[in-house]
Amino acid sequence: MRGALCLEIARNAMTPISEPELLAALKTTFGYDHLRDGQLEIIETLLGGGDAFAVMPTGAGKSLCYQLPAILSARKTIIVSPLVALMDDQVAALRQNGVGASKIHSHQSYDENADQWRAFASSGPQLLYMSPERLMQPRMLQALQNQSVGMFVVDEAHCISKWGAAFRPEYEALSQLKTLFPDAQIAAFTATADEATRQDIVQKLSDENCRVFVKGFDRPNLSLAVLPKEKLKTRLVDLLEPRRGQSGIVYCLSRKDTDEIAAVLSAKGFQALAYHAGKDGDYRREAQNRFMTEDGLIMVATIAFGMGIDKPDIRFVVHASLPSSMEAFYQEIGRAGRDGEPAETILFYSMQDFIKRQNMIFDGEGEGEFKLLEYKRLEALLGYCEATTCRRMSILTYFDETSAPCGNCDNCLEPPEVEDYSAKAQAIFAAMEQTGQSFGQAHVLDVLKGAQTAKIHQRNHQDLPCFAALAEDPKPFLQSWMRQLIAIGAVRANLARYGALEITEIGAQIQQGQMAFMAKTPKAAKSSSSSRTPSSKATQKTPSLASGEEALFQDLKALRLEIAQEKNIPAYAVFHDSALREFATRKPKTREQFEEINGVGPKKLDRYFEAFSQAIALYVSAHKNG
Ligand code: ADP
Ligand code: ZN
Repeated sequence: MRGALCLEIARNAMTPISEPELLAALKTTFGYDHLRDGQLEIIETLLGGGDAFAVMPTGAGKSLCYQLPAILSARKTIIVSPLVALMDDQVAALRQNGVGASKIHSHQSYDENADQWRAFASSGPQLLYMSPERLMQPRMLQALQNQSVGMFVVDEAHCISKWGAAFRPEYEALSQLKTLFPDAQIAAFTATADEATRQDIVQKLSDENCRVFVKGFDRPNLSLAVLPKEKLKTRLVDLLEPRRGQSGIVYCLSRKDTDEIAAVLSAKGFQALAYHAGKDGDYRREAQNRFMTEDGLIMVATIAFGMGIDKPDIRFVVHASLPSSMEAFYQEIGRAGRDGEPAETILFYSMQDFIKRQNMIFDGEGEGEFKLLEYKRLEALLGYCEATTCRRMSILTYFDETSAPCGNCDNCLEPPEVEDYSAKAQAIFAAMEQTGQSFGQAHVLDVLKGAQTAKIHQRNHQDLPCFAALAEDPKPFLQSWMRQLIAIGAVRANLARYGALEITEIGAQIQQGQMAFMAKTPKAAKSSSSSRTPSSKATQKTPSLASGEEALFQDLKALRLEIAQEKNIPAYAVFHDSALREFATRKPKTREQFEEINGVGPKKLDRYFEAFSQAIALYVSAHKNG
């Protein structure tokens, strides 16, 4: 079976396509020289007529897995996506490659939608993008019955499962597709789905013959770093200074922070925009459009921004405050570096933010069980922030994967000092026990410090044996130990008791001396302006250009922006950074030389050969004599 891509499938028998033929098609349609890890198997399955469900991390290249089979099989394909922005960008990128694609969605007028439908129905484009609610309208379903649809692609497939964190009711109806269109194939994709969610998705959309592909969660091109959240604005400016000209996202918790930080950055001469749900629709569309098309823009945003952002060259994602859970964090940083080139992620973290999040869960809607689950997801993130070993291992372990130390996180590059603080932990546990495990962190630490607070006197806690037991240690040290105890799961907030801290099984082991509490050496507040800024290793790993080439690269980027703005398409839909970088180093002259570069296919060559070859020739002749 290897080598030939056609499987014996009665349902959709097709002419076999060999691997070299497939690669040739990849080059002629998309300009790419090779498939990425994991793509071949899925393409193979779909070309063979089978159903496929793939879990692949962001940026792995899911779209190509259905686009290429759809194009090669020349059969009509419906792509279901919940995100208008994503539909627009995908269709723009496909059209740039000369592939017929259309879309129907709520941001287009009735007439536009009607035109797009007519084009699709009258043998034009083979790929049609639309939202699940459009697709499942009776009129649409009926119209599609006459179109002999070959394949339905369900993007963001996890939205169909109630097990996942992002269930969308409008996705539920998609489970009728397999009975309504028994002859059509199903291809479903998502970046996140645990085992229970996966089974649910397959059961709803397909059957036991569906092939499931799960590609590891790891995104090795993303560097990971955590910084203490102190003097945030100053630190942020310092951090971004060497990253001027790169596209990035800064996530904030509140709308107010978003506006303020964007203003600070703008005042320092950065191209920064604020984005949150309080801005009106026109502003948001415009801001998003600028972010997608322009280079080097920083979007300072709440989580209202991000769904459906598939800009491939986002070079950093900074969290100015703690995300809601490990899942949310991983999804948010996942927007960086989709092009596979190095990108950085930096999280500013403080205990206050953790407590804020914790209270949001306590005060939020939902059943106790749901809250507990949410709290665990948040707690996992605290574990990540307080980790003393490889941060990637901490993420991957959470998602049930294993990995060796990555060498691309702050802890790997500069391992923090750890010491045995078991005696301190035991003092903390004693104070928790003597106060009946009924209080939060602030009170427990006050008791240990020997503070004279009203709360202490009301309860006569000044008479407890543990009172002032750690009076000699600076308060920030106590806070740091407590954080680390929570992070390793030795201490846990009891949700049913308004977050009162309790000693867990792990805590008991430390208490009884069966396990050591190895913790980071705390830094006093003053000295913790920490020099541990995230490594610039990631930046160094980006293929660096000689100064002359860098100048040409910048010229080419400017040209690309001009073209993109004129056509109102994302800049990367013209050429990716990686292709421009190769233009700058190899300085191709002929069409053949251009075509050797990854990302340059015949359609793009037709469109852009002239402009880019002229720009390069101009640069070369201007610098010949100087
Ligand atoms: P995902 O949906 O998995 O997050 P995309 O489908 O948006 O990822 O792909 C991410 C980027 O990688 C896109 O810009 C896409 O054009 C590019 N890409 C996909 N496959 C390849 C390939 N085989 N070679 C080079 N670039 C690719
Ligand atoms: Zn690491």
